[in-house]
Amino acid sequence: MAKYEVIIIGGGPAGLTAGLYTSRAGLQSLLLERGICGGQIVNAALVENYPGFPDGIPGLKLGSLMQQQAVKYSLEVVTAEVTNISHGEPYRVSTTEGDFEAIAIIIAAGSEYRKLRVAGEERLSGHGVCYCATCDGFLFRGREVAVVGGGDTAISDALELSRHARKVYVIHRRDQLRAGQLLQQRAFAEPKLEFIWSTVVEELVGDKILEELKLRNVKTSQHSILKVEGVFVAVGLMPNSQSFFSILDLDDAGYIITDETTATSSSGIFAAGDIRRNSPRQVSAAVGDGAAAAISAFRYVQDIGNGVRITSP
Ligand code: NAP
Repeated sequence: MAKYEVIIIGGGPAGLTAGLYTSRAGLQSLLLERGICGGQIVNAALVENYPGFPDGIPGLKLGSLMQQQAVKYSLEVVTAEVTNISHGEPYRVSTTEGDFEAIAIIIAAGSEYRKLRVAGEERLSGHGVCYCATCDGFLFRGREVAVVGGGDTAISDALELSRHARKVYVIHRRDQLRAGQLLQQRAFAEPKLEFIWSTVVEELVGDKILEELKLRNVKTSQHSILKVEGVFVAVGLMPNSQSFFSILDLDDAGYIITDETTATSSSGIFAAGDIRRNSPRQVSAAVGDGAAAAISAFRYVQDIGNGVRITSP
């Protein structure tokens, strides 16, 4: 079985930064990623709030640059999905590509799109029901689409879609947005956007492709139909913590509980980025978390090497 000093789970900004730091510190480091590296930012057309890029940078490019920088310092990257972590010294990480051992583990597995969980969503997914405006927006050139949600993602998506679509409805369950002020100002100034307030989607309807949405106003309980060819679900994220719940303390929403050093409830396991409780869920914050987790993991590996006995916090 391949043995490492540190295994990093997840190849988004937090994981790639952790890998950059641990490999530069001379630790034998493996990063496991189930898809492509880059994390959520690969879906962002332009990241405008990451320091160092005054004109913004495409998310895909930023992710790719982060990966290039980490592997330059001999971080090993394997495409595999983690299925289990067994307690012990060292830890055993089971994956779809076999088992690996490590003294320390950094979990930076991020989060995934939250679903609406209404009738028709799963069946029509990829057939008019989408979760990434940057990936699929161009498919709806000249058409009418809807975005569900009122956060930063929903409003960024709606603005992105207004470049392609003829009309973009924003369906939000409350009567005010959660998105930041700047995005709100841009959205309210965009004539292609129309807001449908205090409304939830009850069903996505269509035979083989999406044809219409069944809506309900939560204040009046009135039902209505909205004919659109595409709907972009942007109702937040869920932590990818399913594989870790048996060995780590999670909060009620499934986020990993850490202390200020990124240490989790299991000694030698650290968590960084969106998967950590109270993460601001920003690229810059994930990068900072990755660095902090790497420094904590480095100290832990050194202490183990020096025969120091470590107990969980
Ligand atoms: P979010 O901030 O959690 O917003 C989710 C939105 O979906 C909220 O408006 C919420 O409504 C709504 N919602 C949740 N469940 C719903 C349901 N079942 N049906 C209908 N509506 C539902 O998620 P996000 O927008 O994906 O953002 C995630 C994080 O990434 C945030 O911290 C955000 O700041 C960050 N982000 C930043 C940028 C940027 O450009 N800086 C871009 C994207 C994301 P309520 O408002 O009623 O709760």
